[in-house]
Amino acid sequence: MKIILLGPPGSGKGTISKALNRHDGSVQISTGDILRSAIAEGTDLGKKIEAAMSSGNLVTDDLVISIMEERLLRDDCKEGYLLDGFPRTTVQADALKVILEKTGSKLDCVLELVIPRATIVERLSTRRTCVQCSEIYNIKFKPAKVDGTCDLCGGNIVQREDETQAVIENRLEVYKTKTAPLVDYYRKEGSLLSVETSDFEPVLAALKAHI
Ligand code: AMP
Repeated sequence: MKIILLGPPGSGKGTISKALNRHDGSVQISTGDILRSAIAEGTDLGKKIEAAMSSGNLVTDDLVISIMEERLLRDDCKEGYLLDGFPRTTVQADALKVILEKTGSKLDCVLELVIPRATIVERLSTRRTCVQCSEIYNIKFKPAKVDGTCDLCGGNIVQREDETQAVIENRLEVYKTKTAPLVDYYRKEGSLLSVETSDFEPVLAALKAHI
């Protein structure tokens, strides 16, 4: 399956795409994870993007598109992929269209997760992430067995710098102005499926009915 996960930060794109990956093996590609790794490794790319990411703004289209062009042409993407966090602007969506044409493939679905704003703000401000394997925890709904330590890999669990209240507000505003127009973009193409849940089973059932 070739699927785009669309939705504001905190709508459950990462969780759903990881569950879909476990379900059918399609590779999960999170631009946020790729960019965070570049920062952690201190690469030139990491230095360029650190300020934009920590303030909740988008990294430039040029940089993200060149990363994704390289990533989507790798062999493991031939069968399918789940795009978590890309595209985030219409310029990126146009670039993805060109990549799809180049590889002679097409999207199966653009899955939009529609979640109330209050739920998103609560989820993001209580969310914690493993610095090592990116597993997501939540201090209210899904705490780690040992406080501060990842159940899966033993890495440190932290609050992301861009998940503090002020930055969350900015990220939601950026979503509204830059990314939400993609809902209409893909609706016009006929590939949009909107679901008002981020629970895996109903999402999977809706996807099966759609594809
Ligand atoms: P995420 O983990 O998807 O919430 O992304 C975290 C941050 O990474 C975003 O707030 C942006 O700063 C950056 N980012 C992720 N994906 C993109 C993208 N497709 N275009 C621009 N910036 C991105």
